[in-house]
Amino acid sequence: TVSSDGNKKISRVRVAVRLRPYLDKEDEKGEGPCVRGLDKQNLEIVNWRNATETVKYHFDAFHGEKTTQQEVFLSSVKPVLSHVLNGQNASVFAYGPTGAGKTHTMLGSAEKPGVIPRAVREVFNLVHAKDAEEGWDYSISMSYLEIYNEKVLDLLSPSSQDLPIRQDKDKNIFIPGLTNVTISSFSDFDTHFVPASLNRTTASTKMNQRSSRSHAILLIKVVRTSRVLPHRQQTGKLYLVDLAGSEDNRRTGNQGIRLKESGAINLSLFTLSKDSLGGSAHSVMITNIAPEYKYYFDTFSALNFAAKSK
Ligand code: ADP
Ligand code: MG
Repeated sequence: TVSSDGNKKISRVRVAVRLRPYLDKEDEKGEGPCVRGLDKQNLEIVNWRNATETVKYHFDAFHGEKTTQQEVFLSSVKPVLSHVLNGQNASVFAYGPTGAGKTHTMLGSAEKPGVIPRAVREVFNLVHAKDAEEGWDYSISMSYLEIYNEKVLDLLSPSSQDLPIRQDKDKNIFIPGLTNVTISSFSDFDTHFVPASLNRTTASTKMNQRSSRSHAILLIKVVRTSRVLPHRQQTGKLYLVDLAGSEDNRRTGNQGIRLKESGAINLSLFTLSKDSLGGSAHSVMITNIAPEYKYYFDTFSALNFAAKSK
């Protein structure tokens, strides 16, 4: 694509949209959805200036309300995971208004696990498959943090609040003091992740609306060491991010600007995710939207933002 100033824009972010189903059958009987899927890449939303017209959008993928967790994972997430084992970075962001399904998409439930458990399982599967065939030893570790009001909370060590975000001379982002635990299996991951997620929930009930105004970031780091040349190491990072509600975007008047300039994806998150958005990185943004009219303006601005993030 070519941006308005005529410079070539490199398309780095794959943008998918996921429409969740109605939660209440009664709502569905009312005025109908304000947004409708057309096919696997296109959707339309009612034009608020003229209700007899629609505005159409094209994305890398459109996941309709019947889409399963497995389908979202296979189409939008699984393809980027192999890069992480090869020393490259990848990230998956769930974006959209509060209530539109970000946490459902990323975390899901015991019956309907989301992107996070599926991706972590798959990383371990890939490592085990590689183990047999290649000359590398793999080591996997995790960090889990929340950014709220530009401050970092270490969810694996909740007494560590307000950690700083630093950049080294090579412009690598790091958070001194952030817990990084080695994990050797999916169940090992779960042992750390489940209570840490609870830390987040506890914090959010104490502080009004916190979970909708904070970013939750899970970092899975894959370090591989050559068996032949042990000094040869490569690190791939996978960021799995449940972003703050995009309605903040509209309140601050920032709708429609590029991903890297967004107020919703605030400065801390941007600096943190810079290496996941850099040259060799593979980024996926899953924009979650809801069918109800009460979400109309948040849906409209989320779609416009998503369309400009490609
Ligand atoms: P967000 O994290 O964006 O605020 P949630 O993930 O909490 O939104 O979703 C809001 C509600 O909608 C939750 O009750 C969730 O279980 C439900 N929900 C979201 N997406 C889906 C879906 N695809 N299928 C079924 N229920 C969903
Ligand atoms: Mg949520």
